[in-house]
Amino acid sequence: MLGVRLGRALDWLYPPRCRFCHERIIGQDEECFCHGCRAKIRLVSHPLCTTCGRPFLDASGEDHLCGPCLMHPPYFRAARAWACYPGEEHRDHPLREVLQRFKYGRRVSLGKPLGRLMAQGCSEFLTGQSLDIIIPVPLHPRRLRWRGFNQAVILAWEVGRLWQLPVDPFILFRSRETPPQTQLAEEERRKNMRGAFSLNPAKPVQGQRVALVDDVYTSGATVNECSRALMRAGAKEVFVLTLARTV
Ligand SMILES: [Zn+2]
Ligand SMILES: [Zn+2]
Repeated sequence: MLGVRLGRALDWLYPPRCRFCHERIIGQDEECFCHGCRAKIRLVSHPLCTTCGRPFLDASGEDHLCGPCLMHPPYFRAARAWACYPGEEHRDHPLREVLQRFKYGRRVSLGKPLGRLMAQGCSEFLTGQSLDIIIPVPLHPRRLRWRGFNQAVILAWEVGRLWQLPVDPFILFRSRETPPQTQLAEEERRKNMRGAFSLNPAKPVQGQRVALVDDVYTSGATVNECSRALMRAGAKEVFVLTLARTV
């Protein structure tokens, strides 16, 4: 109680600042983006694909399956993201820039407010789903050494803390290094990821309902391959949660 009061007093004395433009954030239930920056972020909203969570451009109508999910049903039950990830042409977009600072600028402290946005944005979707465990998408050890941390683990810790769910980053491993996906077509991405993940035999996932966490959902090839490994190992269902997704 004292901690809460102290927190509020500190917010009043030193209001949090926008992680993008450093504007003070006053009177907002928000600790990451100011009003102006928040307004530039397009949230994922209905109607969307009931499986991969892709929002449809036509805002009328109901949620339904998208073409790619109909053609190649993924191994995960459903995927959801908080916001739409702006393309490369929007280099100074608040969400893109803050996520880049977090990942490549090693600003680990950004993981907490970003993880909170992700937990808030995906909570409606998971209402009534009783999840057992949160598993972050792993990085290959070489990339982990180079970057120093796995952004998906940091986001997963925050989501787990808010939802009071266990987080285990030692279940899923990247057993093979994969070339960057960005230049590849969708079919090639799928092939590129085949067999890239393996499971820790000491940590059975039989019958577990898993939330798989990553920062950005692009083609879905990575999370789909993780889901394949988890389902093969006997997981009951896999739900994918990301902070953002490309549209
Ligand atoms: Zn701002
Ligand atoms: Zn879909």
